Amino acid sequence: MAKKIYLDYAATTPVDGNVLEAMLPYFTEKFGNPMSVHGFGQETLEVIDNTREEVARFLKSSPTEIVFTSGATEANNLAIKGVLRSFYSIKRKPEEKPHIVTTSIEHHCVLDSCKAAQKDGSAEVTYLPVHKDGIVRLDDLKKAVRPDTVLISVMFVSNEIGTLQPIEEIGKMLSKINAEREEEKLPKIIFHTDATQATNYWDCDVRKLGVDLLSFSGHKIYAPKGTGVLYVKKGTAIKRIQDGGDQEYKMRGGTHNLTGIVGLGAAMVSLNDQKNREKTKKQVEKLRDYLIAKVLKEIPKSYLNGHKEKRTPNIVNFRFDDVEGEGLLLSLDLEGIAVSTGSACSSGALDPSHVLLALGLRHEQAHGSLRVSIGKHTTKQELDTFIKKLKVTVARLRKISGNVLAEFK
Ligand code: PMP
Repeated sequence: MAKKIYLDYAATTPVDGNVLEAMLPYFTEKFGNPMSVHGFGQETLEVIDNTREEVARFLKSSPTEIVFTSGATEANNLAIKGVLRSFYSIKRKPEEKPHIVTTSIEHHCVLDSCKAAQKDGSAEVTYLPVHKDGIVRLDDLKKAVRPDTVLISVMFVSNEIGTLQPIEEIGKMLSKINAEREEEKLPKIIFHTDATQATNYWDCDVRKLGVDLLSFSGHKIYAPKGTGVLYVKKGTAIKRIQDGGDQEYKMRGGTHNLTGIVGLGAAMVSLNDQKNREKTKKQVEKLRDYLIAKVLKEIPKSYLNGHKEKRTPNIVNFRFDDVEGEGLLLSLDLEGIAVSTGSACSSGALDPSHVLLALGLRHEQAHGSLRVSIGKHTTKQELDTFIKKLKVTVARLRKISGNVLAEFK
């Protein structure tokens, strides 16, 4: 069988060779619990702190503002639930309820954390719409802010359609809003961004972005699964949600994922190499532009979902008339090509993507969509093979659905 082609880098990435190499000794010889006082522990605490410094360098933050988690899902849960927990750590009047603003296209771990808070009555939530281009408008955000708003959570890059949100602009707007609120003695609004799909290609300088909380995941940046980070700006009103030991500045109890954190550190060293990062970004961007142009040219009635330019270099979402995305995915899988119809966490479900519906697409249009996400190992040759197979598969599926429809006429 021909070599398999992986075009699902937004779901996960392979671990880099140097990352694996860095991790190996920490499974066997250097296995001490970083919280232990003896030498075994001291040795591993040092490498945990090395990763903390690499992450801090990347985010332009202080190492003491970095909290290691098991991934972006946990980091996002901690961000949202931790802010609510802090709110309720002070005695509140029964009518006092915090308000959260987020968007309708967030990852399920953000959306479901918000929905859970609504359900148990601990918060009110506004889900901002996005325009047809998949981007939130600042005016809508400004209008959604209320005196009782405590948190705004907007993702940096959409994992499904790859569009970029104006995080820096939101940060600037919020700093003005917060200055006015201080005079009115209203609570400061905390700004969180889920940067999981942004870390490979975008500047995540937290001061520039104006964020108080930022989450990301190791397995999207060629580090192992089960690692993640929540940046917590010093002084942010947030409380831990996982009780236990005093790890992570008492923000997240539980023995460290030592090998994972070592791997994350090695991956961060690569991300901190600006020259290399820029080179990879250009290479991936070029391939993406080639992919978009060729698919739209060669496949009739194909469209690009989301904004044409305001997008990340590696995620593309296409729509094809009269084709089921699931059928396409399965057919391509039989050919050894891995793509996706949306986020991996929910693609087992046959519900249309909430993100595509939020763009205003009809159910059948959302069902006719396919996510292709590339990475640093993707080649032009792989894309050519993919496009060739895609073209044939789309035509075949259209023919079948045309025949079925004709039979029912
Ligand atoms: N947020 C976004 C935007 C993501 O793409 C993902 C992964 N699909 C997550 C959160 C969840 O990350 P993790 O797998 O590390 O829990």
